[in-house]
Amino acid sequence: MRGAPRSPTLCAMTTSALPRLAERSRAFLPAERLVLPDSPGWDDARGAFNLLVDQQPVAVVLAADERDVMATVRYAREHGFRVSAQATGHNAGPHGSLANTILIDLRRLDDVAIDAEARHVRVGAGVRWDQVVPALSELGLAALHGSSPEVGIAGYSLGGGMGWLARKHGLQTNSVTAFELVTADGHLVRTDAVHEPDLFWALRGGGGNFGVVTAIEFEVYPYAELYAGALFFPFARTREVLHAWRELLPALPDELMTWAAVLHFPPDPALPEALRGGSFTVVWAVHLGSEEEGRELMAPVRALGPLMDTFAMVPPAALGDLAMDPREPLPFLSGHDLLDDVPAAGIDALVDVIGPGSDAAIAMVQIRHLGGALARRTAGAGARATLPGTLCVFSLGVAPDADAARAVAATLSAIRAAAAPYRVGDYPNFVEDPSDASSFFDPQTWHCLREVKALYDPSDLFKGNHPIPPSAEMG
Ligand SMILES: Cc1cc2nc3c(=O)[nH]c(=O)nc-3n(C[C@H](O)[C@H](O)[C@H](O)COP(=O)(O)OP(=O)(O)OC[C@H]3O[C@@H](n4cnc5c(N)ncnc54)[C@H](O)[C@@H]3O)c2cc1C
Repeated sequence: MRGAPRSPTLCAMTTSALPRLAERSRAFLPAERLVLPDSPGWDDARGAFNLLVDQQPVAVVLAADERDVMATVRYAREHGFRVSAQATGHNAGPHGSLANTILIDLRRLDDVAIDAEARHVRVGAGVRWDQVVPALSELGLAALHGSSPEVGIAGYSLGGGMGWLARKHGLQTNSVTAFELVTADGHLVRTDAVHEPDLFWALRGGGGNFGVVTAIEFEVYPYAELYAGALFFPFARTREVLHAWRELLPALPDELMTWAAVLHFPPDPALPEALRGGSFTVVWAVHLGSEEEGRELMAPVRALGPLMDTFAMVPPAALGDLAMDPREPLPFLSGHDLLDDVPAAGIDALVDVIGPGSDAAIAMVQIRHLGGALARRTAGAGARATLPGTLCVFSLGVAPDADAARAVAATLSAIRAAAAPYRVGDYPNFVEDPSDASSFFDPQTWHCLREVKALYDPSDLFKGNHPIPPSAEMG
């Protein structure tokens, strides 16, 4: 299809032009791998994890391999379409409109190769963390995954990737050793610290703006066992638990990462009876060390007398579901803030809007302790080298209808107002709405990202979830 004439009708995509897209693209792709609005399976193909996100691309390509990706990118470029990539749809919200955009679904690129001796993993761009973490765990290895095992390694890594081991080992993106991707000229490129280093730098934090990644390689870490678990307290004790938790933080070593949360579980029969329909304040920790050390470090919070204590020495696979994140797609609104220097009064202000008696319309408010390696720039790091702040507050409310959405939005605004005095920035992986990505980077990093974009994608073919426009000077 490379020699096909450009079609102005297709460039200004209209509904009447869709049959022509089908006709032309079937020349480069078998019909079953091209899903159009009138195809069976359209709603499934265009779906996102957040059921409130209504993605309407012009077509979805179910890529079977990198050749499908190359053919689609060439076709899109020659016919005036844009291209966006998706593995799981866990961060589809920020895209906004996908008009005139072909969505490449990479789920079928699911190869996994583990070199245990070298502590090195290679995965296809459609692989989720739960397709790798258990196998690594059996080999005594842990990866830098986050709270949900359903999240895709590609999107997570391209945006940063902050999980349970982040205070010791930093963001996942800086453990990536190579990407393979199809760039705007339709070629498959391998990039690492030596080959096309500017592109390698930009991909590590710059997201899906530079091409369609087909494979990722990354380092993993030698942990056969960790001390990890959760302390569940009654929701009524939120204030004292969060104060005790905050007071614990300054003394913690990088080897220990702790998160606290208020969780309201739905009355879902699939949940364990002890949690079903219940409300709790939960304190988790993962300690890269012995049980004795971990117990001592968590003693001030445990001394409050939890209802349930699940801490034990566990294999790394146990971290996959430790946070009990929702696994099935659901309709939700969320918000987050990175915070620094939060005093006791800041915890009180937060508890006033989410704690007992607040009537907060929220399923979860999770606070992660940052710092450690997340605050240290290492030599050779990518565009997302560090995260500012010492706390990350992430809140999520389920919104099955308009009334619920209004109530959740009001609670999210109240949380944001309580956090505002301590706010130091955003974490792009947690941004769920279309946003100005320049605010996620310092001016120099943003300038360099735009220059790399101009070098590799001057016509802005690729629409990342957080768009980076090509630099005008170089474009
Ligand atoms: C329940 C839940 C829990 C989460 N927990 C964490 C956490 O603990 N830590 C954390 O850091 N983040 C977390 N996240 C955020 C998550 O990392 C982002 O949503 C991430 O972007 C998801 O990547 P994905 O590939 O699964 O999603 P997708 O929506 O498929 O991809 C997100 C974006 O990444 C880009 N992209 C994906 N694949 C490719 C590719 N092959 N080539 C080019 N670009 C690509 C695209 O721009 C795409 O829009 C969580 C999100 C949810 C919903």
